[in-house]
Amino acid sequence: MPRIPADEILIAGHWRRGGGLPIHTVNPADGSVITTVHAASVDDVDEAARAAAAAAAAPEWRGLLPHQRARVLYRIGDLTEEHAEHLSALQTADTGKTLGETRALALSAAGTFRYTAAALETAEDALTPSRGPYVTMSVYEPIGVVGAINPWNSPIASDAQKIAPALAGGNAVLLKPAEWTPLVSLAFGRIVHQALTEAGLPTALLAVLPGKGSIVGDAIVRHPLVGRIGFTGGTGTGRTIARTAADRLIPAALELGGKSPTIVREDADTAQALAGVMYGIFSSSGQSCIAGSRLFVHSSLYDSFIGELVDRVRKLRIGPGTSPDTQVAPLVHHKHRDAVAAYVELAREEGGRVLCGGHSPEGEQYAKGAYYLPTVIDSLPNSARVCQEEIFGPVLVALPYGDEDELVAEANDSVFGLACGIWTRDAGAAWRLGRRIEAGTVWINTYKQFSISTPFGGMKDSGLGIEKGRDLIRAYQRQKSLYWGTDTAPLPWAN
Ligand code: NAP
Repeated sequence: MPRIPADEILIAGHWRRGGGLPIHTVNPADGSVITTVHAASVDDVDEAARAAAAAAAAPEWRGLLPHQRARVLYRIGDLTEEHAEHLSALQTADTGKTLGETRALALSAAGTFRYTAAALETAEDALTPSRGPYVTMSVYEPIGVVGAINPWNSPIASDAQKIAPALAGGNAVLLKPAEWTPLVSLAFGRIVHQALTEAGLPTALLAVLPGKGSIVGDAIVRHPLVGRIGFTGGTGTGRTIARTAADRLIPAALELGGKSPTIVREDADTAQALAGVMYGIFSSSGQSCIAGSRLFVHSSLYDSFIGELVDRVRKLRIGPGTSPDTQVAPLVHHKHRDAVAAYVELAREEGGRVLCGGHSPEGEQYAKGAYYLPTVIDSLPNSARVCQEEIFGPVLVALPYGDEDELVAEANDSVFGLACGIWTRDAGAAWRLGRRIEAGTVWINTYKQFSISTPFGGMKDSGLGIEKGRDLIRAYQRQKSLYWGTDTAPLPWAN
């Protein structure tokens, strides 16, 4: 069993204190300090990158055939499942999320490693059609060292979605977790370290380097040995990283923010839609890139639907993530709770009606935690800041609509294009709307369902590049073409 990560981080294959400032990780349910992690310094990043480059080039790793590399991933998947409860408890303590959610995330992370291993075993290089006296092939090779930079909202999922394809592609990985939530990533470090040690492989294939994004994250993006960046986080940070990556001419895949529309048509099954809308925004306390945070309801049922929604939202059970009764857990950090509260104040100033929530819950049991009540706001135009900017908290803005063309124009009137939900019994309307809305993922009569086998990515300011799906490993490899002459006749210049 990997021990609970305490103050050590994983640099160049070894566990030790980083040279950066200490990070006091806080449990947002009660404000207590869980542990102190000694962050990485810029020198630590450099040391980890050099060791990772050597590990990636080592014959015992570079020489493995795909099915042999897959074995390491299957083992990581098994260890992840074995330690799912531990990972889940860590993520609940670190992020506040409910145990039910973090348990599901841990098991899904195990599935990510197994799916990636299977994809690796079955991936084929291509024999391309020959157009001359030669055989042509397209083959895929490792990049070398890749950087993985993740946010705080679902570290179990985002870590697995980057570590698995990166290792499968034959690379070494420098992982930078968010400063607020380093614990799960360090636990993953223990698991991968164990699997690599058992297989007799270089342990520097994964480094886990917590620390401030502007210091440690930036040092990873700038490091000359790092050949690719996988980033999940806010759009502003994504732009900064993309600029540096462009300067260095290295690829950067960016999974960014969202302000996703959920549409309830007049022919929707309203009971199903009510439950789906609430789950879409209030699960994970709204701290989800794909949260359905803008609700469009047909004007013919707007008043009754919103009335029922508000009644039900008021009954959601608020509490710590460790309680099996809890539906809405605290936000990740007190600072983030304050940022969410400031958006609700802004909505009030802009003339919005706060229909429920709109403040932290009252009561001794909530006093020290980063709690905020699930909140529904309406009476604002789609152009209002709270309808346009990502709040990343339990705040839903509701808007009525009448005409479908106007609905599509408003739903698409957003810099983001990550996800969309459509609730309708009309298959034709579902198809039409699903194709017209600018979003990387559209859910019809369901929401927030995820599968590693289905590609995921954002349009517009929601991102660049795709994660998951059958080709997930290719993003972590370089493509090379081979021409192999088959004619014994000399080339023309020989004459
Ligand atoms: P963030 O502030 O952009 O941070 C994301 C990561 O980038 C953190 O590890 C952060 O470090 C690091 N970072 C910050 N500045 C950096 C820099 N200059 N160079 C390199 N790294 C840097 O985002 P967040 O507040 O943690 O997460 C919330 C955002 O993530 C939301 O916008 C959400 O929509 C998005 N998200 C998107 C997806 C998706 O798949 N599309 C999934 C989940 C979340 P520190 O914070 O530790 O300093």
